[in-house]
Amino acid sequence: MSKNRRILTQSPQETMDFAREFAQELRPGSVVALIGDLGSGKTTFMKGLARGLGLEDENAVKSPTYVIMHIYPTPIPLYHFDLYRLESVGELDAIGFEEFIHDPKAIVCIEWADRAAKWIPKTAYNVRLTSISEKKREIEVKSPAKGLK
Ligand code: ADP
Ligand code: MG
Repeated sequence: MSKNRRILTQSPQETMDFAREFAQELRPGSVVALIGDLGSGKTTFMKGLARGLGLEDENAVKSPTYVIMHIYPTPIPLYHFDLYRLESVGELDAIGFEEFIHDPKAIVCIEWADRAAKWIPKTAYNVRLTSISEKKREIEVKSPAKGLK
């Protein structure tokens, strides 16, 4: 079921639990654009999401800061991008980002997706994380517009 929602979490575990549940909505071809400052919980959210998609070792989930992308061996392949250190959009051309993001067989998640805004399809989920206090985070999920996958 697609709907917009906003929740508050009080711990990393709560953020992971929410993401694990959210992951059940995802299908091959789904794109998740993660937006939020450093330390807001994007990678923590990814750990829960990857668990929800069947990844057994959530410690395998780290911000792919130096390589830009990780692929996890989940039943539906999961591509995890982190654009924090992106120096130019040209780097995305160089790695074939556009093909990855449109791979109909994979689920694609992008930390710092706002740095590649023009590449993010309208069919993407938008997940915005905001730090409220040391342990509190607001998570806002916007589902793809109706009629889109
Ligand atoms: P990002 O990828 O956005 O830079 P991380 O997930 O790597 O953020 O880091 C978030 C940090 O905030 C972690 O150290 C985590 O333990 C801490 N944290 C504290 N409370 C929460 C919460 N409610 N949800 C997510 N992370 C939290
Ligand atoms: Mg991160």
